[in-house]
Amino acid sequence: MGTPLRVLIIEDSDEDAVLLVEALRRGGYDPTYERVDTAEALNAALVDRSWDISFGDYSMPYFNGVTALRLLRAKGLDIPFIFVSGTIGEDTAVEAMRNGANDYVLKGNLKRLLPAVDRELREAALRRERKKSSEALMESEERLRMAIHAAQMYTWDWDVQSGRVIRSGLYQEVYGPDRTASDSSYASFLQRVHPEDREKVDQAIRRTLDENAPYRISFRVVRSDGDVRWLETQGEAYRDGTGKVVRMIGVTQDISERKQVEALVQQMAFHDTLTELPNRNYLYDRLLDAIRVDEAKGRPFALLLMDLDRFKEINDTLGHHRGDLLLKEAGRRLKAVLFEPDIVARLGGDEFAILLPRLARVEDIHQVIQKIQEALRPPFVIENLPIAVEASIGVALYPDHGDTPDSLLQRADIAMYAAKQTGRSEAIYDPQYDQHSPRRLALIGELRYAIDHDQLRLHYQPKIDFNTRRVVGVEALVRWQHPEYGFVPPDQFIGPAERTGLIKSLTQWVFETALRECGAWGRSGMDVAVSVNLSARNLQEPGIVERVAEGLRSAGVAPDRLMLEITESAIMADPNLAMEVLTGLSRMGVGLSIDDFGTGYSSLAYLKRLPVDEIKIDKSFVIGMASDENDAMIVRSTIDLAHNLGLKVIAEGVESQDLWKILSVLGCDEAQGYYISRPLPAPEATRWLAESPWGIQKNN
Ligand code: C2E
Ligand code: CA
Ligand code: CA
Repeated sequence: MGTPLRVLIIEDSDEDAVLLVEALRRGGYDPTYERVDTAEALNAALVDRSWDISFGDYSMPYFNGVTALRLLRAKGLDIPFIFVSGTIGEDTAVEAMRNGANDYVLKGNLKRLLPAVDRELREAALRRERKKSSEALMESEERLRMAIHAAQMYTWDWDVQSGRVIRSGLYQEVYGPDRTASDSSYASFLQRVHPEDREKVDQAIRRTLDENAPYRISFRVVRSDGDVRWLETQGEAYRDGTGKVVRMIGVTQDISERKQVEALVQQMAFHDTLTELPNRNYLYDRLLDAIRVDEAKGRPFALLLMDLDRFKEINDTLGHHRGDLLLKEAGRRLKAVLFEPDIVARLGGDEFAILLPRLARVEDIHQVIQKIQEALRPPFVIENLPIAVEASIGVALYPDHGDTPDSLLQRADIAMYAAKQTGRSEAIYDPQYDQHSPRRLALIGELRYAIDHDQLRLHYQPKIDFNTRRVVGVEALVRWQHPEYGFVPPDQFIGPAERTGLIKSLTQWVFETALRECGAWGRSGMDVAVSVNLSARNLQEPGIVERVAEGLRSAGVAPDRLMLEITESAIMADPNLAMEVLTGLSRMGVGLSIDDFGTGYSSLAYLKRLPVDEIKIDKSFVIGMASDENDAMIVRSTIDLAHNLGLKVIAEGVESQDLWKILSVLGCDEAQGYYISRPLPAPEATRWLAESPWGIQKNN
């Protein structure tokens, strides 16, 4: 068997074609061929692009070999074309080659045919190879160019002898406008480096020139417009045969944004922006210190945890602005009664911690607690409104109750809870507190009743678009107004409701209420979408999709005004089922959001296969971003990856302006959090929507 060969023959004589094919067969090929003798037939044959070689008769009655050749080349086909002709003079041959033929052979002398075919096939294969690699090269150059652009980079190549520098990429953007080619000398480069960094840069470059070690430094430059930018550069020296440096090549990246974020993160790492007290991280480190000191000196210490009773109620009824003022004042009062080396920290919300690292006697704790209670006793006057505040304090002692920061914090928390339970204002940890949660159990029994007897309420928390700075929607969050215990937060009853199946009625209630209230906003000209949380159990309810459709219909709310939030873990609990339900909801036009993203084990790539619209970065990462570089990295890369997959990103837990700023720099799409507003009861939410400076986004 010879080498398979697909042959296209442009020839009016069948016999001549057969002769040609015979010659190829004798030469060790296994040809299959098609003969054409009109332009139409040739066109039709060229639809198939798998021809290895073509032969053309120079002159045919109805068709011309040169025309055929042009046709073939016009289609961009790089198939070897060999003229085979009975009559071809030297001049004609030259003309044929000029027209793009690869060779010519006389019919009477087919001896030249095989070497010509062999050679042309070889060369065609080579051409194809070259084309492929140059395409690959172009593609990789294009990719590199894009990457350089995305990374805010430029590359440079410095000819050390002549002083010439060639740069490509975002050079202009980095150094600012009006830069001329003439100032590419080393001296003028150094001139643009920030005076404080100049020596460092010069030294690094000289060291590389002398010692041959590549360098990597970050430094500032002052742009022509006065702006200061942070750059990071990596360079390497190249030497000639004699060891003299001839070139330096490197990459420079504009890292100003990164520096900005790093600086904020640093600043926020150990300190609470609202009260200006140290934060949880700081306390944690000091706890570690205290434990270490004790290992050397054997000194016990106390950790106090304190929260303000009914703060959430105060906050919800008077507004979070007043709540914040109250927290600030509480911080000030605490600081005023405690002295070095005691540490007062705010752990978040209305929770404060006090570390008493030098405790001579346990009895002294009571004295400190008394001082604290007295400091809080005078009413807080917030915007002329006197507010009475009481605190519950839990105490854990080192080393009796724990010997790590975590165990101490946890025990102090248990003690604080016990203090609330018993109605006393303070409690020192006791192991018997661990098991007691009778109130929680009682609650479950009452939840059914609560759902049916109008004890549940929805609070709404706005979501803001970073670009327009307007409200795009609100999230409905359920609360339980217990006749006896007062306000019960959802964390205390959602879990049990899921376990007992009550979640089904609860969600139905939330869904109906949210749609009704959202529909009312819509009709009064406040067009906001509403988000409702679904739990894993809801996904398993048969007919859930139909129920949502029915709910929308009867409330008269358009499907795109509803967004359903489903946690990552609820999806992962049964991915197939989730896919089915989400597909149904998405077809209907309902928006879908992945809640608490980052807390589960799914990958973004997997979630992308689901018909979801946005992901909601879990508040633990968002809040943690301020103090933990890891969290900051997670947030940053989640945003980038989600965007690459065409998903929107919303950050929850945006508690401060600093967080808002960082997220804005990182390109996050939407924000939700205390910085914008706490969740508000419907009447307040209505007022907020009408009056807040954020305003509502028009027709989305
Ligand atoms: P989630 O869906 O992640 O809701 C966001 C929670 O973060 C809310 O707590 C909200 O008040 C709180 N939050 C908002 N902004 C900030 C902030 O800036 N900082 C901090 N630290 N927290 C912020 P909430 O209302 O206590 O709800 C807790 C969880 O209870 C919700 O978490 C959700 O999982 C569940 N939940 C609430 N309502 C419903 C509901 O109607 N159905 C279901 N299935 N679950 C619900
Ligand atoms: Ca949610
Ligand atoms: Ca969440």
